[in-house]
Amino acid sequence: MISADLLRRLRNDLPMPVTIAALGREGPPSKMFAGYFRFLCPHCGEMRATVNPRNNLAHCFTCKKNLNNIDLLRELDYDFPSAVTLLERLLNQYQAQQTKTKTPSPPTRK
Ligand SMILES: [Zn+2]
Repeated sequence: MISADLLRRLRNDLPMPVTIAALGREGPPSKMFAGYFRFLCPHCGEMRATVNPRNNLAHCFTCKKNLNNIDLLRELDYDFPSAVTLLERLLNQYQAQQTKTKTPSPPTRK
């Protein structure tokens, strides 16, 4: 049973660039453009799907479609349960790494 809370975390808490980096050759080609992460839109094939870091949604400026992590994997021919399993594993890895690398930042002096 897949909970709504898990789905929400997979959509919101796992940055799309992390998912795409983890997919490697299996995922869409991507690049940084003007500080934004862009990747090849699976709908129209243009390199204009751009991740909005505020809501972790990719918006394609060519075909105007929106994609989240789950949509992206569905486009890559994952069925829904496999997409959720993979994203859950990536999210756990990502969060484990975040806690490990989280070091107290030195006080900034003005
Ligand atoms: Zn598109």
